[in-house]
Amino acid sequence: MDLVTACLDRADAFDKNLKAFLHRCPDRALSVARRVDDLRAKGERPGALAGVPMGLKDLLVVEGMPTTCGSRLIEDFVPPYDAAAFEALSRSGAVLVGKCNLDEFGMGSSGEHSAFGASLNPWDPSRVPGGSSSGSAVAVAAGFATFAIGTDTGGSVRQPAAFCGLVGLKPSWGRLSRYGMVAYAPSMDCVGILAHELRDAALVLTELAGPDPRDATCRRERMPDVLGALEDGVADMRLGVAEDWMDAGLDAEMEQAISAALRRFSSAGARLRPVKLGLNAELLDAFALLAAVEAASNLARFDGLHYGRIRSGVGGMGALRQSARGEGFGPGVLRRIKLGTDALSAGTGRAGYERALAERARVRHVFEKVFAEVDAIIAPVCEGPAFGLGERLASPSEMIGSDRFTMQASLAGLPALSMPCGFSSSGLPLGLQIIARPFDEAGLLRVARALEARQDFHLRRPPLDDLFAGGGA
Ligand code: GLN
Repeated sequence: MDLVTACLDRADAFDKNLKAFLHRCPDRALSVARRVDDLRAKGERPGALAGVPMGLKDLLVVEGMPTTCGSRLIEDFVPPYDAAAFEALSRSGAVLVGKCNLDEFGMGSSGEHSAFGASLNPWDPSRVPGGSSSGSAVAVAAGFATFAIGTDTGGSVRQPAAFCGLVGLKPSWGRLSRYGMVAYAPSMDCVGILAHELRDAALVLTELAGPDPRDATCRRERMPDVLGALEDGVADMRLGVAEDWMDAGLDAEMEQAISAALRRFSSAGARLRPVKLGLNAELLDAFALLAAVEAASNLARFDGLHYGRIRSGVGGMGALRQSARGEGFGPGVLRRIKLGTDALSAGTGRAGYERALAERARVRHVFEKVFAEVDAIIAPVCEGPAFGLGERLASPSEMIGSDRFTMQASLAGLPALSMPCGFSSSGLPLGLQIIARPFDEAGLLRVARALEARQDFHLRRPPLDDLFAGGGA
């Protein structure tokens, strides 16, 4: 109860500045927390996450609570059921504090594509928190929740985690049920976790994992004991260092922070060796195209008739549909729908789509070869710390360029995480990425923990009281 109250108070004081939440539910949170306390008082065990405050990206549905997906088009939608992730976490006793802001339908890398206003980075409010799980990252970094659920299609959990100084875990594609998560590009979409510490992320992952017949892509097998393996160390492990990514124009401070992390891995007994993953503009284009093709077909249902509000105009169904979508969707979403629809049209589009599929097969093959030699890969998440608000808004290609080190694991369905590895001289968090073999979340977390145990960046918190004197007046 006390923890929930503390988070609610903090959100009351600071969320008007940071805009982590689109919808807060303090009454509901307090009543769930009270129930947990009552169970404890009766000597019952209320679950592994009992009383732990959480945020949920507003791309996952909760019965009776608005789910906007960051879009005007469905701002009035109140779903009649719970997402599998929310169901599982509620069963474990976690307490929902609110639905988190995001780039519209998960499309973006900065949080600035939310129709309800951008979330701000709590380390420096003139910067973006990253996206698309912007509000989820801000909620955790600012202390409004202990952990949050995001979604990651090309980097949307890992990149905001890096920009906000958190752990951001994208499990293997198919590891967690996506029932009740609004789809962007289902062949890459994953439910992901944002937390301060790896142990928390591992615990939440454990509570989330399990078969779900309502999502045909959700893995049936049991997940390995990620918590039990967490402290096993890396003494026997071979770690590949993504050399060509390290040479791809990183900020000097980012390069130094990753080099320092590599030294820590070495002193923990890991054997490091350079690997080449390849880095080319075609792959980023392929990712953008495949995501857009899937988005175009998924978003077809938001037509103002089945889902979404008719905003203006009367006339035939075609006109209604056009006005709902034209006025309801933001420019980033409309751009992707157009790109995806063109790519599936007869004629020239088709060849581009097939080239993109071939690129995807190629990147999978590269990872297969590399993972024959090493147990995990160490790489950057981004070339530098969080960028400034508005800096990349004018250029969609620069914006999606933020995914240039994260979309490969998404295309290949691999588990990957980002974690703090330092701070810039201006006090901004810097993130490091680790990528592992398919379904080896245990190995992934174990490698990450070996580093976390040798540094203390995860203990730092943004100076909100200094930034917003007087509780954010
Ligand atoms: N930034 C990428 C995009 O805009 C991926 C976002 C995500 O992972 N959901 O498409």
